Amino acid sequence: MQETVERVRAWVAARDEELVAELADWVAQPSVSSTGLGMAAAAAHGERLLRAAGLRTQSVETGGWPALVGTGDGPPGAPHVLIYGHYDVQPPGPLEQWTSPPFQPEIRDGRMFGRGTGDNKGQHLAQLLGLRALRELTGGLPCRVTVLLDGEEEVGSPNLAAAIRDRIAPQAPDLALWSDGPVHDTGRACVVLGVRGILTFELRARGADRPLHSGNWGGVAPNPAWALVQLLATMRDARGTVLVPGFADSVEPISAGERRALDALPLDVAAAMAGIGVTELEPPAGLGFHQRLMAPTLTINSLGCADSGDHRTVIPELAVARCEARLVGGQVPAQVAEALRRHVEKHAPGVEFIPGASMAPSRTLPESRYTETVLAGAEAGLAEPPLLIPALGGSLPIAALTDELGVPCYGVPFANVDETNHAPDENLELDWFRRGIVASAAVQLALGDRPAHP
Ligand SMILES: [Zn+2]
Repeated sequence: MQETVERVRAWVAARDEELVAELADWVAQPSVSSTGLGMAAAAAHGERLLRAAGLRTQSVETGGWPALVGTGDGPPGAPHVLIYGHYDVQPPGPLEQWTSPPFQPEIRDGRMFGRGTGDNKGQHLAQLLGLRALRELTGGLPCRVTVLLDGEEEVGSPNLAAAIRDRIAPQAPDLALWSDGPVHDTGRACVVLGVRGILTFELRARGADRPLHSGNWGGVAPNPAWALVQLLATMRDARGTVLVPGFADSVEPISAGERRALDALPLDVAAAMAGIGVTELEPPAGLGFHQRLMAPTLTINSLGCADSGDHRTVIPELAVARCEARLVGGQVPAQVAEALRRHVEKHAPGVEFIPGASMAPSRTLPESRYTETVLAGAEAGLAEPPLLIPALGGSLPIAALTDELGVPCYGVPFANVDETNHAPDENLELDWFRRGIVASAAVQLALGDRPAHP
């Protein structure tokens, strides 16, 4: 296998200019799902890239922007690998904050700048070029492959679960791969097994129908700000324990493999705290730094009254808390929302509970069937042993892969830590793009050596 990996490395080096130009062309094609800018042309461009990897393509109607699907055969007995990526991008935001225009990619200091370079065009293009290299060098693919490019990731993938259920699940992939987000904070390569989910909600307490003079009405008119903070105090105690019944009932315990992986992650807690200007961690005490990022949270994002300007002596008519819960393996957003709603109804029936957007958590255990193989393949391609991250603290819509398919799911990110995705001057280090192509091919080769079923 290593010999073929080195041939892929040479293939990439020999075509550097051409491959970088392909990335530039892809980034130059706008594909802003939230506004529709360039989406039709982007879908056609994405299909061409799938075909160039030797895949049969199909544009799948979803009710929103189409999903692009490419399929390729592999040898009998080899696993069927699903590769997930997304061809839509965030809107560029304020143009004056970009050093070069977002859809006119420019290379500076070994990085390509442009909207979508890291999130996610450079990363799924690396996957597709890895397949193309294998096909050109070996005459075929080591695994059966289905590539799914979502057109709606940046708007929350509202139709992804249905597309996977209807179009992908019947093909029964054995595992899923995705490349998105940055590598580990230290700059080291990593393999990511899962993500926390999220549920946002708002609490609205109302008082009188207008702000009132706090002398003339103080002690008479109800104060919604007190009602709100008293409700919040019933939801979590000072030690950090969430007091909402049912909130964490279904949280699955950390496995032995997850604990080993967490213990092996590089960690400098003092530096991390100094970096954000704090001297103490959030309660509960006694939890390791990385364990905290794998635990559920109940977070107040903002707290305010209708009039949060100058200090005026009034009784506010409205108090609002914007909150979120980060969810971990076993938790279901709808069940957590229901537990919160019941708690609010019991303790503060006058306060309105308004659930917002949610995304389910995704969990793949280190003990899963393909973990060692994916790690070995990534190491062969990247020429460094990747860190194994049991779960990202943040949220990505990959539960659709684990939940709808019931297969292990592996993230192998190929973007530099400072890719500034979603922000101005989004960029991708071209070395990560090149290494990503080789690593993608190497993971396929490693998986091809591993029979799908015992
Ligand atoms: Zn994004």
